[in-house]
Amino acid sequence: MKFSSTRAKSPPASLSDVIAAGLAPDGGLYVPESLPQMSAHDFNGCELLPDIAARLLAPFFADDALDTELPAICAEAFSFPAALRALRTPGDFMLELFHGPTAAFKDYGAQFLAACLRRIPRTSNNPLTILVATSGDTGAAVAAAFHEVPGFRVVILYPDGRVSPRQAHQLGCFGGNVQAFYVGGNFDDCQRLVKQALGDRALRDDVPMSSANSISLGRLLPQMAYYAQATLSHYREQSTLLNFVVPTGNLGNALACMMARKMGLPTGRIVLATNANATLHDFFSGADYAPRPSIATLANAMDVGAPSNFERLRWLYPDAKQLRRTFAVDCIGDAAIQATIREFHQASDQAVCPHTATAIRTLRGLRQEGADGDWVAVATAHPAKFDSIVEALIDAPVPIPPALASLLALPSTARPLGVDYAALRLLLAES
Ligand SMILES: *Cc1c(COP(=O)(O)O)cnc(C)c1O
Repeated sequence: MKFSSTRAKSPPASLSDVIAAGLAPDGGLYVPESLPQMSAHDFNGCELLPDIAARLLAPFFADDALDTELPAICAEAFSFPAALRALRTPGDFMLELFHGPTAAFKDYGAQFLAACLRRIPRTSNNPLTILVATSGDTGAAVAAAFHEVPGFRVVILYPDGRVSPRQAHQLGCFGGNVQAFYVGGNFDDCQRLVKQALGDRALRDDVPMSSANSISLGRLLPQMAYYAQATLSHYREQSTLLNFVVPTGNLGNALACMMARKMGLPTGRIVLATNANATLHDFFSGADYAPRPSIATLANAMDVGAPSNFERLRWLYPDAKQLRRTFAVDCIGDAAIQATIREFHQASDQAVCPHTATAIRTLRGLRQEGADGDWVAVATAHPAKFDSIVEALIDAPVPIPPALASLLALPSTARPLGVDYAALRLLLAES
């Protein structure tokens, strides 16, 4: 399969080229030239996540040099489960995507991207620098995926004081081929520095660079796999469609759910839950699309005012009326996030992270409006990553998963960086 840009001004490219490039040369986002159609029957005999992923992604890899490597890539990237658990309310489920090395769903996309990139031949002998701006979870997932992989260096920029203390610790603890910098600015400042470096031709001649942000198709495609697994296992047992509430910021995870649905997987309704950043909510309420600066909330990984995958959403549904009819967006403020974390813990004895809380709140609202059928609230991070918020609300300690505990036991070596491109350029050229 070939891939084209949402802005249609770049020549069609192969999957390997698209994964290596990140953004299309015309500034658009790469999308498949067509969306393969698959039904539940196509997955007969597949139950495990790596097997479902390999079957689902095979049409996208057809004709590419990575084609024969796809089963090995999936085995590497899907090495931890996406657990679908029933909640206390009958018909309500939670899809836990936080059982990877850094305890957030970003581990799936990052591991898959790394498994692909390390198999794509390169022309330069210099290590490839993966430069990432992160609002919290992406940086650690990318660091874990490339840590100690020969031929790669990871440079992470994160906004000082805007990530949770444990997220910050995690970002700084890898060492080796991973360097983390806390920037005296906000996430947009970090993102701007990364864009400036990626656009610096002279620098890139000496320092081969790539990014790993949420517009990378190498992260987006694999995220369809856990939705496929959840819908298929539900459909095999119940013969009904599974409905989803997905917490959303840059629309990466939610778009994967929508794409899986459009490919024919047995998916019912999809409702997006955002924090107080209302760009998507306003668009789905009928207003023109109006990106804006982000505001800081308790669900910090969703503090996005200009969702970077919006162009892909419009590619998937060019007709705005149809798009608005097909999906809905619910905006959940900080007070509601706090109340939900507290109430959900009282009712079910289970802690959830602030991002997951937006989905639980939205699902509760849907039930109150009479939504029937089986619904999944997608759990995007482990609550232990946000202990500083969650523990005070539930008045109880949150047990730390072993993978996260072993990272937190390492010393953190993040260094400061100003919002200063000259300083970043120097340290990129340095090592
Ligand atoms: C990144 C992230 C999100 C938002 O995902 P998008 O793909 O950007 O919409 C939600 N929750 C957590 C915990 C995250 O890390």
